[in-house]
Amino acid sequence: MQRRVRRLMLLVNLLVLLGSVGERRALAFCRTTTCKVPASFQPTQDHCLTDAIERTCVIDQFLEGKTPHKPRPLWWRNRCVGYSMNVGGTSKLAFDDVSQVAKKAFALWTNSSCPGATDKSLPECPEGANCAPISVVESGSRVSIDARDLGTVECNDIGYFSGAANQNTILFRDTEWSDTKKNRRDSNVLALTTVSFDPTTGEIRSADLEVNTFDHDFWIDSPDPAKGGNDFELLSVFAHEMGHFFGLAHSPDPLSLMFWSASGVKHDLTTDDIAGICTIYPPSGKRSVHKEVSSTGFVEGERCDPTPRGGLGQTCAPRSGCAVTPTRTRGNTLAFASFVTLAWAFFARRGKRRRRRTGQ
Ligand SMILES: [Zn+2]
Repeated sequence: MQRRVRRLMLLVNLLVLLGSVGERRALAFCRTTTCKVPASFQPTQDHCLTDAIERTCVIDQFLEGKTPHKPRPLWWRNRCVGYSMNVGGTSKLAFDDVSQVAKKAFALWTNSSCPGATDKSLPECPEGANCAPISVVESGSRVSIDARDLGTVECNDIGYFSGAANQNTILFRDTEWSDTKKNRRDSNVLALTTVSFDPTTGEIRSADLEVNTFDHDFWIDSPDPAKGGNDFELLSVFAHEMGHFFGLAHSPDPLSLMFWSASGVKHDLTTDDIAGICTIYPPSGKRSVHKEVSSTGFVEGERCDPTPRGGLGQTCAPRSGCAVTPTRTRGNTLAFASFVTLAWAFFARRGKRRRRRTGQ
């Protein structure tokens, strides 16, 4: 009898263990939130944020009062997001080739079919078309987000500018790898995506991708033997950064595209990555938001219009008024304060050749 009880308890324990493993897997991907995390932060299988980070998360830190809020996950409202390559490109790679890689990287995410959906016939919104509101299309299985190449821009500013034309830029930093204050950045960082958002809702206003071509070399067709394995596949880097662009944070799953560290060629979305993009942009066209933003946990997406907020600016907005940069400033106007910026870095992992630095 006692043995039976023990066996039963063992079985119960095993089931509990299996249950918890299953739950952890379901939680593997992480969404970027309005809560700032240290650059060195790495999520675990159990938590995308720590309790300590959540407790101190203050989304309206620019406003009076500093009321703590639950972190809001980030999301784009429109079905189509426009992006622009900086006209300078990079001297290290052919512009058209880079442009194609960017397009391919976006498509990796936007062509995702979501598990559980039945109909795989949801058409893409054709170039130049003003597609029907996506909420009309309920039966498709493809995610309800698209990306559009809006051509080149001259502007090389990073961030969102309220009341001015904007651009979601892909920018190569050939000549220096520095922040907006000209401080040298960590040379191990391959690329950086800066996402600007509304801290009260988590709605993304703009996203910019900077590539560290100053410290690193990238290849498109095949690695350069002369680099001795020290160059990186551009598509792998872009694929990871586009995940940030769409609102995903780093995943604790080492196989995931959204794992924090680069290691070799990796540009296929895993189940974890697909679960992430499908959670934010389900085929129904809705956007998954914090329940304090909408009691249902969803808001409707908008019909395809890839124009950035305030219009597409070929040149940079004047550096005055309501400009918002990655630098956090407190006690400014509401318009200024309504948007904060979060940057995600993608680190190079060089094995034994270079000490791995994760603390930056
Ligand atoms: Zn990253």
